[in-house]
Amino acid sequence: MDGDRDTSTTFDDLGLRPELQAALSALGYEEPTPIQQEAIPPLVEGRDLLGQAATGTGKTAAFALPVLQRLTAHRREKPPVALVLVPTRELAVQVSEALHRYGKDLGARVLPVYGGAPILRQLRSLESGVDVVVATPGRALDLLNRGSLQLGEVTTVVLDEADEMLDMGFAEDLEAILGETPDTRQTVLFSATMPRRLDSLARRHLDDPVRITIGREKAPAGEAPRVRQTAYVVPRAAKPAALGRILDVESPAAAIVFCRTREEVDSLTETLNGRGYRAEALHGGMSQEQRDRVMGRLRGGTADLLVATDVAARGLDIEQLTHVVNYDVPSAPESYVHRIGRVGRAGREGVAITLAEPREHRQLKMIEKVAGATIAVEKVPTVADLRARRLDLTRAALRESLLENNLDRFRVVVETLTDEFDLMEVALAAVKLAHEAAGGTDDDEEIPQVTFRTDRDAGRAPAGRGAGPRDQRPPRRVPGGSAARLFVGAGRDAGIRPGDLVGAITGETGLKGRDIGSIEIHQRFALVEVPESAADEVISALRATMIKGRKATIRRDKA
Ligand code: AMP
Repeated sequence: MDGDRDTSTTFDDLGLRPELQAALSALGYEEPTPIQQEAIPPLVEGRDLLGQAATGTGKTAAFALPVLQRLTAHRREKPPVALVLVPTRELAVQVSEALHRYGKDLGARVLPVYGGAPILRQLRSLESGVDVVVATPGRALDLLNRGSLQLGEVTTVVLDEADEMLDMGFAEDLEAILGETPDTRQTVLFSATMPRRLDSLARRHLDDPVRITIGREKAPAGEAPRVRQTAYVVPRAAKPAALGRILDVESPAAAIVFCRTREEVDSLTETLNGRGYRAEALHGGMSQEQRDRVMGRLRGGTADLLVATDVAARGLDIEQLTHVVNYDVPSAPESYVHRIGRVGRAGREGVAITLAEPREHRQLKMIEKVAGATIAVEKVPTVADLRARRLDLTRAALRESLLENNLDRFRVVVETLTDEFDLMEVALAAVKLAHEAAGGTDDDEEIPQVTFRTDRDAGRAPAGRGAGPRDQRPPRRVPGGSAARLFVGAGRDAGIRPGDLVGAITGETGLKGRDIGSIEIHQRFALVEVPESAADEVISALRATMIKGRKATIRRDKA
C-alpha cells in the first residue's frame, strides 16, 4: 500500500439521483473530490453550510449537485428555486455551464445574469421561467428592483467566492438580495478565505451551518520524499504545448501525468501521441485486461508516459517512475501528497510538476501550506531554453562519440572536405546534421508567459459603493462586436474544411460555434473571423494544437 485512500466514497455512495450520476459519468468524473464528499450529503439533507475552498477543489459541483438533486425534473413554474451569487461574470458563466451540464437530463433551466450583457435577453429568459439563477450581485439587485427577478420561491441561496464579493464592495447588495428571499431558505457560503467580515455575514444569514474546510488536516507525516517540486502557470489553451515543452526539457525516464477526468485522459493521450510522445491512457473506464496491457508497455519501456486519473492510478507502484505531473492543480492537498509520493523513493530524486491556471493560485498556496511543501513557480521553458537544452544533448552525444574514439573510418571524409573548407566549418556542418538527426529542429512556437492573477487583477472595477458600474468587465465575447481575421496556414490542399476550424477553435478555447464569424477556405490557407477580444487566445490555442493532424501557421491576417 502506498498511502492511497482505499475507502473512497463514490458518487453512488452519495445517493445522487440517476440523472446526475449519468451526467457525471458522461463527463468522465470518476469519484467525488474531498469537498464534494463532505458537502454533498448535508446539503442534500437541507443543512446550511459554510465551506472554505478555493477554485480547483471541485466546489462548484459540491453545491450544484445538491441544488439539482432537490430540483423537480422538467419543472414548469417560472420563478427560480435557487440563486447562486458570484463575484464576476466569468464565474457566472462558468457556474451556469456546470449547472447546465450536470442538470441536462433533468431539464434544468439555468440562467446566468451579469452586468455588461444585454439586459433584455435576461429579462425575457426570466419571464419565460428559470430554475436556477446565477448572478453577480449588482445585476441581481438591478433585476430585483425592476421587479423581474422574483425570489419568493427560492429554497437555496449559494454565495460563491464570498470573500471576493465582500472585497468588491457587494456587502450591502448581498444583504438586500438575501432580504428578498424566504427565511426558510437553505444558505450555502463558499469562500477561499474566512475574514472576520465574512464571519459576521455568516452568523446573520446561516442557520447552524455545517463547517467544512478543505485541506485543514495536515498531510500524513512520514519521511518526506526527495522531490523537486515546481509549478508552471499556463493558460488552459496552452497546456498541451506547455506540457510538451516541459517534458522535452525534463526528459523523464518514465512519467505519470494526472488528469481530472476520463475525457481529459483520453484527449491528452491522443494529443501527446500526436506530438510524438509514447503515451498510454489509464482510467476507470478500462477493463483490467486493458490496464494490465498498459502497465506492461510502461514496464517494458515501449511507453514512457502514463496519463491517468487518480482512481486508475491508485495502488500502482511503478519502479522506474521519475516524474509526476499534475495536469491540473489537485483538488485537495492530500491528493497532491499521494501523487508525489510515487517518486523520490528509496533515496532517488523525483520531480513533481504542476500546471496551474492563472486563477488557481489559492489552491496551490493551500497545498503548499498543508503539504509543508515548497513549490517553486517557474516559467515555462522558452523556445531559447529548449534550443539550448537540445544543443546540450547534441554536445553530450558528440562528446561520447569522441570518447569512444572509433572514428577512423570517417577520417577520409573530413580530409577531403578540408581541401575545400575550413576545419571549423566542416565540424559545424557535421554538428548540424547530428543535431537534426536527433530531432533537434528549431520550429517551435513560443508559449504565452503568464503569471498568477488574483481576480482583482483581471480588470475588475474598484471596490466600494459609488465606484462606478461594478461587475462590468468588458465582455470577452462581443456578439456583433469587432472581429479579428486570422490566417491559418493550411487550406483545401491539406483537406481543411470549415468544420475542422470550428472544431479546433471551440475545442481549444471558450468560444462557441456562434462566436465564430466567416470562414474562407483557400487552396493553401484559410481565413477565419473571431471576436477581437478572443483573438489572442484563439491564436495561442490553435498554435498549441493540430488541425487535421498537422501543425499550421496561425497569425493575424495582415490584409
Ligand atoms: P471548481 O473547483 O469547482 O472550479 O472545479 C475545478 C474543476 O474540476 C472543474 O473543471 C470541474 O469540471 C472539475 N471537477 C469537479 N469535480 C470533479 C470530479 N469529481 N472529478 C473530476 N473533475 C471534477
